[in-house]
Amino acid sequence: MIEAKTSLLDIFSDNLATVLPSPIHTFSERVSNVPNILKLTIGEPDFAIPDHIKQAAVHAIDADDSHYSVSAGTIALRKAASFFLNKRYGLNYEPETEILTTVGATEGIFTILAAILNQGDQVMIPTPAYPVYAEMARINGGKPLFVDVSQDSFILSPKRLRDVIDANDNIKAIILTNPSNPTGVTYTADELEALADVLRETNILVISDEIYAELSYDRAHVSMAKFLPEQTIVVNGVSKSHAMTGYRIGILAGPAALMTEFNKLHSFIIMTPSNPAMAAATEAFSNQQSFQDTIEMKLEYQRRRDFLVTSLSQLGFEVGTPSGAFYIFAKIPQDLIQDDISFANDLVEKQQLAIVAGSGFGPGGEGYIRISYAASMTMLEEAVKRLISYTTLVRDK
Ligand code: PLP
Repeated sequence: MIEAKTSLLDIFSDNLATVLPSPIHTFSERVSNVPNILKLTIGEPDFAIPDHIKQAAVHAIDADDSHYSVSAGTIALRKAASFFLNKRYGLNYEPETEILTTVGATEGIFTILAAILNQGDQVMIPTPAYPVYAEMARINGGKPLFVDVSQDSFILSPKRLRDVIDANDNIKAIILTNPSNPTGVTYTADELEALADVLRETNILVISDEIYAELSYDRAHVSMAKFLPEQTIVVNGVSKSHAMTGYRIGILAGPAALMTEFNKLHSFIIMTPSNPAMAAATEAFSNQQSFQDTIEMKLEYQRRRDFLVTSLSQLGFEVGTPSGAFYIFAKIPQDLIQDDISFANDLVEKQQLAIVAGSGFGPGGEGYIRISYAASMTMLEEAVKRLISYTTLVRDK
């Protein structure tokens, strides 16, 4: 039967209606047109990728590697990813059955959620957290279950985890970000092991977003899969570690039985990843020279981190030294505007400096700002100058 015609805009799903636009991108786009704006809003590495990685992509193009691959990605890439996960984090995954190539970490996380969520299922998200997770859960019919860990140095404790599990039904998964965006905190082996002990007694799937693993400053990265391999899907990729965000190559690693189902869904979404991008990622994961390149990048990030932590502390911001990723999550001093959104807007208006308001990262982010130091030292020095001018202006009033 043909129904009476209504607006085409009614065509969208109820799930889509629950999805909110990314506060970070909305803000970042809005301030783009402000003259002389200095943006420290986006987590985009500012390094050029090494020549040997570029050449791998060029070679694939020159060799007419232009046809469909397989949905899980080339076996060469999966072997390289397996090698990388083993060399760097001591993990063991079978390239044939336990590794999947995705279009960035983003598609990997989306695929997992789309594969596991029924309407109303909950996805536990310790916050402040990367805002994309909650929207991905919603679009797939799930509900984000935010657990504010701002009072616990931004670390989820086993006690808190157990309490949340006891108080809630239908928790299908937890998304742990280690190192964290936006706070930069990393979990120690002991902390992960204690969480694994709680989770082992449940059917909750751990989506362990380790996209920043190579950017761990104070100690070697430890993966959740070390303690709970049977229940963990490791999410990683080349976006942050190798400054290859635009290549769009991520990986998922986990138990074969789960990966088969994820691959089934993933094949309908993307068919296959891009061949030149996979060739480049294969080189990035397998050539030990790129481990060295990553270490050099990391040292530069660390220099910038230390500069910002010192400068912000001197201005009265409460800021811990983040042990990973490339963000500073700082508490706004008492004598400045306390509402983080108003603070961020005022900073744009008075000093043309764009940083992200903490509340966009969920409960516990209120009163904080996130500054990305994936930006040159010159930009960071200029940002600090503008912050000094801003705080002086406000304090002298
Ligand atoms: N996970 C986290 C925590 C991120 O911060 C980001 C990007 O900022 C991503 C995933 C996206 O990774 P990719 O570019 O590989 O999709």
